[in-house]
Amino acid sequence: MSASSKSRHRHNKVWLNGGIVPPEEANISLFTQTAMRGANVYEGIRAYWDEAAGRMNVWKLDRHIKRLFESMKIMHMTSPYTAAEYRQAVIDWLRANDFRRDVHFRLVVYFGDAGTGGTTAYKPEDVEFGAWIAGGGGRSDGQVDDGISVCVSSWRRINDDSMPARVKAGANYQNSRLAGIEAAERGFDDALLLTREAKLAESTGAGVMLVRDGELITPPVTAGILESITRAFLLDIWRRRSNRPGVERDVDRTELYVADEIFLCGTGKEVTPVVAVDGMPVGDGKPGPVTRELQAALWAAARGEDPAWAGELTPV
Ligand code: PMP
Repeated sequence: MSASSKSRHRHNKVWLNGGIVPPEEANISLFTQTAMRGANVYEGIRAYWDEAAGRMNVWKLDRHIKRLFESMKIMHMTSPYTAAEYRQAVIDWLRANDFRRDVHFRLVVYFGDAGTGGTTAYKPEDVEFGAWIAGGGGRSDGQVDDGISVCVSSWRRINDDSMPARVKAGANYQNSRLAGIEAAERGFDDALLLTREAKLAESTGAGVMLVRDGELITPPVTAGILESITRAFLLDIWRRRSNRPGVERDVDRTELYVADEIFLCGTGKEVTPVVAVDGMPVGDGKPGPVTRELQAALWAAARGEDPAWAGELTPV
């Protein structure tokens, strides 16, 4: 399997198992469990360009590495590297690509060749484990500014008793993909998924928050969601600014139709306003003031403009 030999896409350099390689040399075997069964876990991470300091900073790197280890633990993966080694690998990869802009990238830990061990192999003596870092895209232009229109998907979110959403596994994104295809075919930008109990979970690749009568509301971590790092940050910012906790509770579908504001939150989506749900405008159909305020707070923190969050930045 080659990252780019037959690809129509341009890729940046890749960190693969300890070395920096050009994308056409970033090859792993088709005998790997990651190629065959999507057996991997990963983190989507962002580094922001700090204009004043003239350098890149990784936002919340240690928190991402912690979640990566949580995903590996649940999936019975033996980490091929230590947390310190992943940290250094991210810095090495960013330096090698010499980015001078905000970039989104992925740190993937994968199950390699398991021989005849098949689906249940998990011990280091039975299966090789490896890791790569690749990516370097920016953001979906326009969406963070103008907002997006979403539908509620007819597909239900994966459940903790079968395919835990708490694990950031590559394979989980096939559930997202089905919902995303349905949304695109119906003319929406993205989809929100409900749990089997018909409570709001999240979008195809981000958490979701609502504003109703001045309260910030978001589904609990038990509602089939990834424990989003951006979600935790926004709840923290909200508490500091309003002196009230954000409300983590089950959300019904119909609350989406009467919310004053809705937005997606995540490393990739950052804070993306949702301006319509199922064809109905959210509030006045424009990104709302709380959405804008939290968006600005995230960017200020991640770009090194808010000293309160300097400890969450890893300089490159
Ligand atoms: N949910 C899903 C399904 C996601 O893919 C993401 C993006 N990683 C998120 C939520 C947001 O998580 P985070 O804020 O940690 O990026």
